[in-house]
Amino acid sequence: MQMDMFEDEDFMEGHDELTLDEYQAEATEFAFYNMTLIYPVLGLTGEAGEVSEKLKKLIRDNDLDFTQDDITEQMEWQDKRALALEMGDVIWYLANAANDIGYSLEEIAQMNLDKLKDRSQRNTLRGSGDNR
Ligand SMILES: [Mg+2]
Repeated sequence: MQMDMFEDEDFMEGHDELTLDEYQAEATEFAFYNMTLIYPVLGLTGEAGEVSEKLKKLIRDNDLDFTQDDITEQMEWQDKRALALEMGDVIWYLANAANDIGYSLEEIAQMNLDKLKDRSQRNTLRGSGDNR
């Protein structure tokens, strides 16, 4: 991995298209663990915590107004990159957890959109409960 990706604001400009399933196929090639499903699910929550940790420090160290829609304009690109990298770690663990239960990321993404569209049509986006 080149260090440039961490130090170049425009690193991702002009990148190749990558589908979720293409990502999953490549990401699972880097999976080396014995505890099927347990390892990636624990990693998923751990990396989600790292996203939260970065956000917590952004709040602590900066005068950002999170009530405004222009939060990306208020943030330094390095801070956005750091968050994006942690989100990438989340996706890696998610891809492997999905793989371990025999789902593709695109299947999961489609199921999620279908669920949200159904809730929207039934006006139940707000509220709680998995099966509303
Ligand atoms: Mg991480």
